[in-house]
Amino acid sequence: MVKGKEEVAVIGAGLVGCLAAIGLSKKGYNVSLFDYRSDPRLVPKCDRNLRSINLAISARGITALQYVDYEMSQRLLSDIIPICGRMVHDLKGNLDSQLYGLFGESINSIDRDILNNKLLDEVDGVDEIKLYFGYKLTNLRFSDVKQTAVFTMDGGKLQKSLEFDFIVGCDGAYSKTRYELQREIRMDFSQEYIDCCYLELSIPATKDFVSRFNGHFAISPDYLHIWPRHNYMLMGLPNKDGSFTCTFFGPWSLVESFKSTDEIKNFLCHNFPDVIDLIGLENAVYAFEHKDRGALMCVQCSPQHLDGGRCIILGDASHSMVPFYGQGMNCGFEDVRVLMQLLDKNNLDRNAAFQEYTSSRQKDLLAIVQLAKSNYKDMSHGVISKLHLFKRKLDRI
Ligand code: FAD
Repeated sequence: MVKGKEEVAVIGAGLVGCLAAIGLSKKGYNVSLFDYRSDPRLVPKCDRNLRSINLAISARGITALQYVDYEMSQRLLSDIIPICGRMVHDLKGNLDSQLYGLFGESINSIDRDILNNKLLDEVDGVDEIKLYFGYKLTNLRFSDVKQTAVFTMDGGKLQKSLEFDFIVGCDGAYSKTRYELQREIRMDFSQEYIDCCYLELSIPATKDFVSRFNGHFAISPDYLHIWPRHNYMLMGLPNKDGSFTCTFFGPWSLVESFKSTDEIKNFLCHNFPDVIDLIGLENAVYAFEHKDRGALMCVQCSPQHLDGGRCIILGDASHSMVPFYGQGMNCGFEDVRVLMQLLDKNNLDRNAAFQEYTSSRQKDLLAIVQLAKSNYKDMSHGVISKLHLFKRKLDRI
């Protein structure tokens, strides 16, 4: 460890925590990065918990990666699949292509595990970052001089208290850092579950499919596919291996109302006949009956920091949003970029940088959480509503 450098603990080695650790190390801090999980690079894929298998990374996220380290961004993004628009599938199997822009603008599909593991590999390559797995943050004690982080290890059998100059909480939607901050400052905070659950299905890669989609994909990999059905919907994003990860979104009351396998079969065949052929009816029914179902919630809070430059929260820890805008991770990456720029602007005066972060970022964070919520209506309903079709016809005139 380089003597004289300030010490920071980054809590959470997820997508945002890894990027924050790399960004902070480049600003000259010694970083300790903690996560309560085991190293995901050593865990078989089938053991991972319920999280989307792939993510859409957009210009917002890519700009942040490039800002932190341009060459690193090239390595991280080598496996992306560009998505140029939505492909809407109606009940009769008709397709409607809706491009994101007139000039080839795209978002990009990327495997969550590959991205997180590559970020961890990048972290491993930085001398100023020490990575600790199996460390669960249980308590934070703040003082004017040092901040004490208490961790438990080995399922709570061991405990360690460590001191740092400041703490950066990137520990996700149920953030312990945020909870500890709430005890210290008058933080406005809201948490709202929406009445929607999600579960994942998969369209396998197709070896013998003769098509313009280079023989691997059952449907075009150039689009985010949506099967909107007003009150619920299915969407699919392509993976590099030719498969598609599909996510069903619908009200809990609907998903919990199915009383038999036949009811699920009827529901799927009636509402998603074309895609069920590709997923396989038995596989789809299995997913509805046995796979974990995820809840969706929004978290908003303010301020995001503790004065004195002692603690700040980034990513889902400060703004968890529903996934319909595909911006949760992108926005978390942007948090890192904004914070790094403010540290530069304020000559590494953390107190000033953190204060400016809360005051300048708050409106953007509120807006994006709201946009994400309203985009569910657009994706499940708006894209097929009569008004929308009418507007689109006018656009074409
Ligand atoms: P997390 O990914 O939750 O990471 C937090 C880390 O902190 C974890 O590794 C956890 O183990 C660790 N941790 C938690 N508590 C502790 C503790 N007490 N001590 C130590 N470590 C701790 N976003 C997009 O931008 N595009 C998309 O297309 C997209 N699609 C999505 C689809 C779905 C179905 C869902 C649910 C989300 C989607 N998101 C998407 C959102 C995205 O997944 C999140 O915004 C992103 O994962 C947030 O990253 P994070 O690092 O802040 O938090």
